[in-house]
Amino acid sequence: MSKPKIQDIFVCARCGSCCHGETTVSLDKDDQARMIRALGLERDEVAEKYWRITGSTVQMKTIDGHCIFYDKETGCTVHNGRPWRCGQWPLHPSILADRVNFETIRSSCPGMNQELSYDEFCALLKQLVEDSARLIV
Ligand code: SF4
Ligand code: SF4
Repeated sequence: MSKPKIQDIFVCARCGSCCHGETTVSLDKDDQARMIRALGLERDEVAEKYWRITGSTVQMKTIDGHCIFYDKETGCTVHNGRPWRCGQWPLHPSILADRVNFETIRSSCPGMNQELSYDEFCALLKQLVEDSARLIV
């Protein structure tokens, strides 16, 4: 049997839902460095313009209820410099731990295959996690 592809369980519908809300994912040190490189700015400038820093937690600022980098026409405007959690979404391994996580995430993400049962989805995701560093927590 051929290896599963991400497209078997997820094809982004570019709805922008995961970029909306009043908070964003947190950026770890690697995320921060990648974003700074992608933007081609000094760290202080990136922090001032784009980040919300609370103690040691760095998130992206939000504007009009969405991430500051989200554009309704073009989607993510910092695609190559986006945090790894944005790249991983919605195929979070926590789906494997709990059906409720799966249902919550799938109900918010129309790009997830809506036809597969939980068990079918998990079987494919497990194989993909084994094969892809992108999906490892
Ligand atoms: S919620 Fe899902 S389908 Fe919509 S933009 Fe995010 S990943 Fe893509
Ligand atoms: S960095 Fe890009 S993918 Fe992540 S929340 Fe912001 S706009 Fe969405």
